[in-house]
Amino acid sequence: MPTSNSLTRRHFLQGGLKVLVAASAAGVLAPPRAFAAPAAAITTTQLTPKEMGGLTLFQGAGCNVVALPGPEGALMIDGGLAANSKVLLRAVTAATGTRRVDTLINTHWHPEQTGSNEAVGREGGLIISHEVTRLYEGRKATSTCYEGAYGPLPVKARAGKTTRDAGSLEFAGQHIDYGYLPASHTDGDLYVHFPELDVLVAGGPVAGGRWPLLDTHNGGWLGGLVRAYEKLATVVKADTRVVTADGKLLTGADITRHRDIYQKLFKQMFEYFNHGYGPSDAAAARPLKEYEDELGDASAFLAGSYRSILQAYVPD
Ligand SMILES: [Zn+2]
Repeated sequence: MPTSNSLTRRHFLQGGLKVLVAASAAGVLAPPRAFAAPAAAITTTQLTPKEMGGLTLFQGAGCNVVALPGPEGALMIDGGLAANSKVLLRAVTAATGTRRVDTLINTHWHPEQTGSNEAVGREGGLIISHEVTRLYEGRKATSTCYEGAYGPLPVKARAGKTTRDAGSLEFAGQHIDYGYLPASHTDGDLYVHFPELDVLVAGGPVAGGRWPLLDTHNGGWLGGLVRAYEKLATVVKADTRVVTADGKLLTGADITRHRDIYQKLFKQMFEYFNHGYGPSDAAAARPLKEYEDELGDASAFLAGSYRSILQAYVPD
């Protein structure tokens, strides 16, 4: 029989583990994160009924993934971490009633988004991305968003079709638009919009329930983030469902509200800039404190955002 002490300790450990798993699934752990995460359980949520495309959300593979069934295989947006690819692809083919992924759109090149590229490419699937994302897929890259280096991906795992601006496709009777959000989360971000289903897959710049990450090593900066929200606010309606990079879903009204927050912050940052503040001064001034109940402690986001402004405006 365990002593009451060891029981307490075991319960404490189990409780702590659950909290960690839940925090990780919600994407609230602070960066940088290692990208060799262990295989996870995938949760599946149907976003639209079968007669309206059967668009499905998959969570737990490292990022939010969306898939739509098609006659030659599924359309998938983002692919989770490579360590989770097998379990994710099994969930995608089961939920969409398909045998393979026919088309994969990468919203950007980070490990959380491109971990299924190799499997999809080997099966002959078409990978679509921004041109900058394709370039990153072919090289080794470090980032402010993860530890270590990632890439280059094998040739078959790289995008076969790219855009520099915007594009659209018809898939299984659905019209799909995608567009560039320059220099926001990375320098190769795409959003993907299903206008008839009223669903926006926002990609890296929009995080669910926390502050967004800026990959300032690779072109991301606060000015681009503001422009990304301005662009996305023109795409959505108030009740549009918005699939975030990870974590919970938002609405179009949230996008408009967050656009206002980041526009105001951008102006505030320039006042700090004119006062000669450093990144820690900008964080200490707490200009986002009224939103911290909703989005968590803002200090890392503020310091990163302010550094991105210094990087853009202060010569070396
Ligand atoms: Zn990312």
